[in-house]
Parts: sequence; structure tokens; C-alpha cells
Amino acid sequence: MFSKNQIVPVTIEDISDTGEGIGHVDGFTLFVSRAVPGDTVRARILKAKKTYAIAKAEEVLTPAPGRVAPECPVAGSCGGCQLSFLAYESQLALKQKKVEDCIRRIGGFADVPVLPIIGMEEPRAYRNKGQFPVGTAGLGFYAGHSHRIVPTASCGMLWPGHEEILSAVREYLAESGAKPYDEETGRGLVRHVLMRKGFATGEIVVCLVVNGTEIPAPETLWERLRKVEGVVGLCLNVNREKTNVILGDRLIPLFGKASVTDCIGDVKFEISPMSFYQVNPVQTKVLYDTALAYAGLTGSETVWDLYCGIGTISLFLAKAAKKVYGVEIVPEAIENAKENARINGLANAEFYVGAAEEVFPRLVKENPAIGADVIVVDPPRKGCDEKLLTTMLAMAPGRIVYVSCDPATLARDLKVLCAEGYRLERVQPVDQFPGSVHVESIALLQRMSNTRSKEITLDVDMEDYHRIKSEGR
Ligand code: SAH
Repeated sequence: MFSKNQIVPVTIEDISDTGEGIGHVDGFTLFVSRAVPGDTVRARILKAKKTYAIAKAEEVLTPAPGRVAPECPVAGSCGGCQLSFLAYESQLALKQKKVEDCIRRIGGFADVPVLPIIGMEEPRAYRNKGQFPVGTAGLGFYAGHSHRIVPTASCGMLWPGHEEILSAVREYLAESGAKPYDEETGRGLVRHVLMRKGFATGEIVVCLVVNGTEIPAPETLWERLRKVEGVVGLCLNVNREKTNVILGDRLIPLFGKASVTDCIGDVKFEISPMSFYQVNPVQTKVLYDTALAYAGLTGSETVWDLYCGIGTISLFLAKAAKKVYGVEIVPEAIENAKENARINGLANAEFYVGAAEEVFPRLVKENPAIGADVIVVDPPRKGCDEKLLTTMLAMAPGRIVYVSCDPATLARDLKVLCAEGYRLERVQPVDQFPGSVHVESIALLQRMSNTRSKEITLDVDMEDYHRIKSEGR
């Protein structure tokens, strides 16, 4: 057992999902921040438990191959870029290994190709969205694994110029007397500053998350913000809960536009601050092009895009498909999706709001002839709901394209699908988040022709469904 503040030398063997180096000493597992696989470090124990301990690297004894001095002045204290101590090539190698390990060990796919990860040419200033917490300590970022705010003026992963927005907000806070939110007491007003930029259009919308429904003298903030190049709107988001979740569920537009316009390829999107939108536009194009290629559309297919957000993948595929259905849980995102279908003149895309695992089976039940030739899923980190996987199997699409931001839940779900008649063709990792430990992957599954579709708890007459389908709708 270790004691607090004890110093131990440890060699880092692996990296955790949240970016700490993992090493073992005398049968104990150490999670060491500021350390990467291949390093041997002197680690200071911060918290000791029965079987593991949390520690911080205080000195590098032997550096990992690929270890570099981070460019960012707040590397190590900011919780954002856990891999800033590694050269970009080494970051990519680590992510490649993570995806391969999950696919082989969790999924049990020994021979399926995991293609070489697609990285960025310029892995900096790529993010189109910033979210900065505001608290009694100031406006900045969270230190790793805590809600301690470290004041900061800028982030090297965001577009150059975003720091002007931060200073405008900082000046406004000082002048207006709007109180920062205090997580301990639940008092105070301003909780977060959110900003999103459409890289293709240059438009920026700023959103303050507040513990209330108004801010003092909002026009003085707007006067400052509108001078920043690109800023087209200011909104409030109301979050009065004592919670770690950043956004509340009400948006109050104050000045200018309440959504940002952006384009990916030749598809145009309106994006509310309430909606999810991929943060790395360059790599998103790569991801969606891959999704389109994997979907293998000829123009006659019915496609489902589950967890569709603002309908990005749906609309990307709609041009090449007969019909696309999108399902998403956030109402504002579905409003965006419908509007996006309209502005792109894509009349063959239809969107539904609700949990995919509820809405998809319900729609199939209501209309057994609805069909699914290709299903695309892009769930949050926890992966697909079991009920959804069951419905997907029951629908027996020829192809499933699985976009994932967590290779462990991806591998788990692929295993379920492949136990019931699908073959995993390949997995393509794409680096959407340079600097961070996270990695995106996209997988293609083909239905094997000799399998019967699963007759399951759907409460739908699947025989009827397949008869109608084979008769041609
Ligand atoms: N495909 C989109 C969004 C992917 S992010 C894109 O590329 O932009 C995952 C999305 O799933 C988010 O928009 C989130 O709001 C939504 N979501 C989370 N849980 C859900 C559920 N149970 N059913 C449907 N959508 C859900």
C-alpha cells in the first residue's frame, strides 16, 4: 500500500481511457498523469486506494520514444490534451494500437483489418467549438480530473482569434457585476462560455450558460462581441441544475443569429448551440466520405441514420440514396436537421425526434414496409442500446456502417452484430481529436447471405416485413 506524497519510480506501459499513463509497482496499478507509454518517471502518489493509486509524474527518468516538450503553455495542467507530451506520429501510433486492441480483445476479431489511422496534416487549431467554464477562480479550463478552474486566455486547438471573445466576456463580467457560478453552493450566474465557428463561412455564435434567465446589461456584452470578426450572434442557455452537464435545455437568443451556418463538402448546415456537431471539420469530411463509401449506395436504398444529430450524415447520404430516415434525441438538433434538408433541397430525408431505441422499433412497427437497406449508427461513447441492436438485426439491412467515438463499446456492439449474421469487413480509425486520447473509428459490416434474419422481441411481424420487402415496395 502506498501513502500520500510517496515518490515511486514507475515505467508506463499503457494509457487509460481518460489519458493517464498506466504502470504497475508491487502488484499495484498506478494511474499517472503527465506520463505516456514508454516513459519511466518519478511519480508522486496523490491518492492511494486498496489496489490502485492516482499519481502525478514529477520527473521523467527515461523518456518514451516520441516524447516531446509540449508547445502549449498549460499542457499537463489542462485536462484537454492528454497526449501533448507525444509527437503527433506517436499519438497516432497509440490510437491505432488502442483501436486494434479493442477490436481484437473485446470484439474477438483476430483477422479483420484495422486500416492505418488517418491523421491530420496540421494537427493544431482544428477545433470549431470551445467551452470554457466560469467560476470563482475566473474563466479558463478544468484541470484534469477535477472541476478546479485554471484561468487561461486561449487554447491552441481552437481557431486563432477566439481569445478576443474570451477577453470580451472577461471584461463584461468585471464591468457588469454578473457573478460567476459557484459549483459548491450552486449560487452565482455565469457557468460557461460556449463558442462555435463555421469554418467554411467564418460565422461565430457565442452562448453563455447561465443559472438564470437573463444577464445584466446584455447589450454591453453584445457591443463588445460584435466587434470580433465573424461573431454573428449571442444566446443564453439556461442551466439551473446542480450538475456537471454543461447545457440546460432552454435556449434564449439575445442578439443576431441563434445558429451558425457551416458546410461540409457541398452540404450546408445550420447548427444550434444546443446541437451536437463534429468539432474537427477537416477530419469530419474524411469521416463522412468514408461513411458514404462504406454505405455503397446506388440510389435505390432506404437508409437509416441513427443518432443523427443535425442530420449531417443523413444529408451527406441522401443524394445517393432513395430515402433517408434520421433519428436523434435532442429536439433542437432535429429542428436543425429538418431545416438543413430544406436548405439543401433534399426532399428524401425525414427526421424523427426521440431515443433511437424507442423511435426506430416504433416506426418499424407502425409501418412494417418501411425497410432498411443500410443502417448507419453514430452513438455517444456508451455505444448502442441493446434494444436498438436487436431492432437492427431484425431489420436485416445489407450493410451496417458504425461510426464510433469509443473503440471499446464499438468492439462490444460489433461482437453482438457479428454473432447474428454479420461479417465485420474492416475498421478505419480517423483522428478527429489530435492532442487528446480520444479516437474515432468507422466500421463496415456486411450481412452474410446464408443467415436468416433474427425473429425477436420486436413485436413486429417480421415475416410480413420480409415478404413485403422481397415483393418490392
Ligand atoms: N451523427 C451526428 C451526431 C453524432 S453524436 C454527427 O456526425 O454529427 C451522437 C448523437 O446522438 C448526439 O447528437 C446525441 O444527442 C444523440 N443521442 C444520444 N443518445 C441518443 C439516443 N438514445 N437516441 C438518439 N440519439 C441519441
